[in-house]
Amino acid sequence: MADNNGRTHVIGVDLGGTKILAGVFDLKLQSLGTSKFTTKPQRGPEAVIERIARCVLDVIDECDLTTKQVRAVGIGAPGAVDPEHGEVVFAPNLDWKDVPLVKELEKRLDLPVFLENDCKACMLGVYVQELKSKPRHVLGVFIGTGIGGGLIINGDLYAGGSHTAGEIGHMVIDVNGPKCSCGNKGCFEVFASRLAIFRAIQAAIKNGEKSILTDMLGDDLKDLRSGDIRKAIRRGDKTVEKIVEEAAEYTGIAIANLVNILNPEVVVLGGGVIEALGDEMMPAIVKSAKSHVLSGTFRNVDIIASKLGDNAGITGGAVLAREKTR
Ligand SMILES: [Zn+2]
Repeated sequence: MADNNGRTHVIGVDLGGTKILAGVFDLKLQSLGTSKFTTKPQRGPEAVIERIARCVLDVIDECDLTTKQVRAVGIGAPGAVDPEHGEVVFAPNLDWKDVPLVKELEKRLDLPVFLENDCKACMLGVYVQELKSKPRHVLGVFIGTGIGGGLIINGDLYAGGSHTAGEIGHMVIDVNGPKCSCGNKGCFEVFASRLAIFRAIQAAIKNGEKSILTDMLGDDLKDLRSGDIRKAIRRGDKTVEKIVEEAAEYTGIAIANLVNILNPEVVVLGGGVIEALGDEMMPAIVKSAKSHVLSGTFRNVDIIASKLGDNAGITGGAVLAREKTR
């Protein structure tokens, strides 16, 4: 691979509602180091973009490099994005509308910047770095605060007509279900995201069900994290176990619907919830998916958990930066 005048590294950035993660990679996608900033979206887009730029410069310095050795930056941003014009069209969790992220970052970094939706970036990272057998058709399900998806079809990232394909978190799976942040009722996300699991646990405790989480964190469960849920289940907390199992069952239903439509070779699950609770959830997810899928469509479908965890997004950003400057 040509090194673009000594530019031997790429940067991947994962922009989230609470944190910004940036990583330096070599051209073989080996990670050299990462840097993390809080996002602080309440300060407005301008301030957030400034923080992204500082996070990128920070990690370059941390890895003893200069921007002259960096080829490009690839960034995954939440919500609807327009990669062609480098804009974040709509990102409710950042409160952003039509933000020219690429232009503003390029101005601050003096490097080429490429934009992708965060879940599509995760899919790209997992596909290129992790799925070495290179299946042709892959469904990615990323479960964190919300739920998003990524699709590889015929070996390429599938974007759809206006780049919004893969919004699997808003697939309606119960028309009479609870209200979702998007305004609809009964979306997949309201049953299986981190927020959904947290809410169900809080409601159960309010209803008088017992959980050791209240001993661990107090009655209001302030600062509840996915890791606490894992600890509770491993200590035999039946209330929490049942709620997580229900989330896993809904995840299996969503996967069954998507397998019926897409017939992927691999379904890969990722995101913070799977990173923390994969061991607890995966067997129930697979069982539920198998029991809800159309008979005969499940042959040769592998359902696996990604090992990239939190690094899927920055790896995908690095893949994007590398591919666009090849
Ligand atoms: Zn929704």
